[in-house]
Amino acid sequence: MPGMSVPVPAAPPPAERSPSPQAARSPPPEPAVCVLCKYAGSQENPVVASVMAFISESAGKVSVGEISRQACIALNEELGAELTDGDVENHILTHSLDQRVVLSSILRDLVDIAQTVKHSSVVQDADTGAAAVDTKALLAYLKIVNEIQNIYKMESMKNLSK
Ligand SMILES: [Zn+2]
Repeated sequence: MPGMSVPVPAAPPPAERSPSPQAARSPPPEPAVCVLCKYAGSQENPVVASVMAFISESAGKVSVGEISRQACIALNEELGAELTDGDVENHILTHSLDQRVVLSSILRDLVDIAQTVKHSSVVQDADTGAAAVDTKALLAYLKIVNEIQNIYKMESMKNLSK
């Protein structure tokens, strides 16, 4: 409504929270460019392309640490880069959505969960001490096993055990 508005005093400058002029002028930190992301899906450099293929094909067969170590050596040699194993591992675990890489990781999780659920599906009867099956946990276990089998059936995972 006109006439009702009360002039709001200008807020004092948030002196303490604003960056110092020095900080404001300094350039923002270089965005970290992931060398592997840069080359992902590119066939431009055949050596790098083969390293990328190696990462995908090794997923699920070889530990991520070992894949990273070997890929790092090959990439640094080819590109004259100074990648660390951690850089490569970070790409594999947090950047790549390569189906095989992701499914391998999910598969690993499911296998671990299946183990835990399996252990909890066999309980001890409090009175008799006899082993008894917790039906609910058993059904959960069987469901997880089924999901594990489904992942193995996927096209990208077909040669996992070869
Ligand atoms: Zn990356």
